[in-house]
Amino acid sequence: MTTALNATHDPKLRSWVASANEPGCDFPIQNLPFGRFRAAGTEEGYRIGVAIGDQVFDLRAAGLVDTDDMNALMSASAKDRQALRAALSAGLAEGSGKEAAWSKALLPQVKAEMTVPCRIGDYTDFYTGIHHATTIGKLFRPDQPLMPNYKWVPIGYHGRASSICVSGQVFKRPQGQTKAPDAAEPSFGPSKRLDYELELGFFVGRGNALGEPIAIGEAEDHLFGVTLLNDWSARDLQAWEYQPLGPFLSKNFASTLSPWIVTMEALAPFRAKFERPAGDPQPLPYLDAPSNRESGALDITLEVLLQTAKMRAAGEAPARLTRGNTTEAAYWTAAQLVTHHTVNGCNLQPGDMLGSGTLSGSKPDEAGSLIELTLGGKQAITLPNGEKRTFLEDGDTLVMRGYCERAGAVRIGLGEVSGTVVA
Ligand code: CA
Repeated sequence: MTTALNATHDPKLRSWVASANEPGCDFPIQNLPFGRFRAAGTEEGYRIGVAIGDQVFDLRAAGLVDTDDMNALMSASAKDRQALRAALSAGLAEGSGKEAAWSKALLPQVKAEMTVPCRIGDYTDFYTGIHHATTIGKLFRPDQPLMPNYKWVPIGYHGRASSICVSGQVFKRPQGQTKAPDAAEPSFGPSKRLDYELELGFFVGRGNALGEPIAIGEAEDHLFGVTLLNDWSARDLQAWEYQPLGPFLSKNFASTLSPWIVTMEALAPFRAKFERPAGDPQPLPYLDAPSNRESGALDITLEVLLQTAKMRAAGEAPARLTRGNTTEAAYWTAAQLVTHHTVNGCNLQPGDMLGSGTLSGSKPDEAGSLIELTLGGKQAITLPNGEKRTFLEDGDTLVMRGYCERAGAVRIGLGEVSGTVVA
């Protein structure tokens, strides 16, 4: 089910694109993530590109594809996807005969304008972060933090795709109804408890026909790859509206993605065992497979940073709020999400996005949202310049970064997603 290691993962492989060989680079030749770009300042259509070092490699200009339609490319079979990766890797490798021709298909990333990596038809957000679910649950229901279904069924809801934008998104603070616990009636106004959620976005590649579930053993064949996802959340709107049908206007005003989809193939060296703590129920048989147990989980380090307007004006870099790892945070694997989503016959389509839910670690400094970091807004955090935050203020820029590091493999990055809230 999960991709085997092959020549494209060879840690000795280097690229003729020199910047791809620099230590710490997010986009070495072992990564090769996909995105959509055009030359900045133009009105050209967006084209399919692959990040290599500090460059974007134009797939159509190089003659590797004959389309600008990322969703069409994503719908390819796992075998065709792997063949394209092998061709890219061979051609971009040091000593390749393609250097002269392919170097004409490069554009520096600083001169590229990125957009969301594909047309996102449907967006489903899950709730796989068990530490997040427990901490949030405690705030709402101290006696029963986790609902009885949590360890049996991957919890999710259908989100909204139209307001998903690419990194760099600037959005207005949402307004809506809120009601303080001690107030007799709700009031209307700007959200006072605006938060972020640190998530991964899993992109569906090949879909399934309506009525035909995807078995867990084949689930990863239907996954194209992963982006960073900031699922902005207005906690005060959420608290008032979420029962009985779940989040609505508290979540659909903005969601922000990193521009690059890191493929499941690129993640092959960074897989981890999927294990349940002793005493926890094992997944029902339809959500269980040897491959999922052996390597269903992903080993990705995620960081959250904040830059206030004051910091930006003073030329200060974003300050790190938290750092954690996905292996420990997620209670369900990506394959389980795909299988569960389709088990009733629901059809997934190329470009659909499945959010992981907020990925918080077990320790306080690994929290994936402010509501956790500040204990529901009760305990402000202090930034290096002395400013304090419980929730986001106007002018705040939130940055998320992700990367994979392991002995014997070349580090790959997911890039970053940033977004700014304004009044
Ligand atoms: Ca979420």
